[in-house]
Amino acid sequence: MTSPALYGPSGGTRRGGLRQRLRRLADAAVTPLDLDDVLDVFHPLRGGLGDTGLRGRIVEVRPETADSATVVLKPSKDWAGHVPGQYVRVGVDVDGVRLWRTYSLTHGPRRDGCLSITVKAIPGGVVSGYLVRRARAGQMVQLAQAEGDFVLPDPLPAKLLLVTAGSGITPVIGMLRNLFSRATTPATDITLVHVNVNEDSAIFRDELRAHAAAGHLTLVERYDDRDGMLDVDSLSTIVPDLDERLAYACGPAGLLDALEAHHAARGLDLTTERFRTPLLEASGEGGSLTLATTGVTVDAAGDTPLLDVAEAAGALMPSGCRIGVCFGCVLPLREGVVRDLRNGQVTVATPGDGVAIQTCISAAAGPCTIDR
Ligand SMILES: Cc1cc2nc3c(=O)[nH]c(=O)nc-3n(C[C@H](O)[C@H](O)[C@H](O)COP(=O)(O)OP(=O)(O)OC[C@H]3O[C@@H](n4cnc5c(N)ncnc54)[C@H](O)[C@@H]3O)c2cc1C
Repeated sequence: MTSPALYGPSGGTRRGGLRQRLRRLADAAVTPLDLDDVLDVFHPLRGGLGDTGLRGRIVEVRPETADSATVVLKPSKDWAGHVPGQYVRVGVDVDGVRLWRTYSLTHGPRRDGCLSITVKAIPGGVVSGYLVRRARAGQMVQLAQAEGDFVLPDPLPAKLLLVTAGSGITPVIGMLRNLFSRATTPATDITLVHVNVNEDSAIFRDELRAHAAAGHLTLVERYDDRDGMLDVDSLSTIVPDLDERLAYACGPAGLLDALEAHHAARGLDLTTERFRTPLLEASGEGGSLTLATTGVTVDAAGDTPLLDVAEAAGALMPSGCRIGVCFGCVLPLREGVVRDLRNGQVTVATPGDGVAIQTCISAAAGPCTIDR
């Protein structure tokens, strides 16, 4: 019988029908293998796999400082683009286990279609250590589409203040590279206060100095070993027209908390990007955590995510962003009571239940048992 798809009214339909037939033929040819598995070997960055099939090939791993590196990735065709300042979730196979982490994009959209992230290896950090020291060009990673609202407004304000500390420079360098790569440098008056422990650990130090020398921005370098810890109350001395500047900040929680309080007290807006979620202070008594499959029971403090408690007990846990965004850590709560560390909300499961909880933002609020 004639296929309606092949002889339909539009050429597009004919092509679609032909493609389906070719696909069926190819499927038959590679049976018992899966065609996509075969194509993965020859064309892993092809499109048409949807968001869950999004991936990237590492093109380069370029050291930045002793413990940080820029990883350049060629994304597959389904990559939908990003706005500078946004982040991407990256799924990395470390010793056979796929782990998802979040990294800010350190460029605007690039001519070569590549993405770049800059990773600082934190002590004991599984994925950051892997990406900085073990990842190699040619390796594949999984990707998710870009997300995040730490982005500059359009049109730009007359004056900007950017405050970054340590690896907190990453989303901001993405914004700056994008602005300064335009045919005409924006008229915005930009001050960047970049805080680091010492000069050697300052990621993108030379590039930022070059921008400052070219008159693109005013760069205030602060080094703890030379200047002492930045006291945010001294910010108005460092940046006299602080009140006129739209402010963005990215860095450790302590600095961001202090900046938020400082700006709120002056009635000023501040947009922050946190690499770790501000969890509530100890909001409960805690309890015990039982891992159902192994029967292991450990003490679980009321301010510590169950994910951390279980990992400290030696369990291999599913995890992702660790800030309650990606749902990569969801497990069934079989029994017990947990508290959401972001808002204090309590979830109770009675025996036989399997209430899905995010272990990265849930802490014990009594004895609890999870499916692990
Ligand atoms: C929106 C967003 C953007 C980010 N952008 C970047 C970026 O551009 N560059 C970058 O290097 N990192 C960035 N991060 C942090 C990154 O996602 C990982 O948390 C970090 O690389 C640590 O992962 P790991 O697997 O090495 O550590 P893990 O093995 O998961 O943790 C090891 C230890 O470090 C602690 N830890 C975990 N994460 C952090 C953290 N962020 N800071 C301090 N201690 C931590 C854990 O509690 C644990 O004790 C970003 C995070 C978010 C949420």
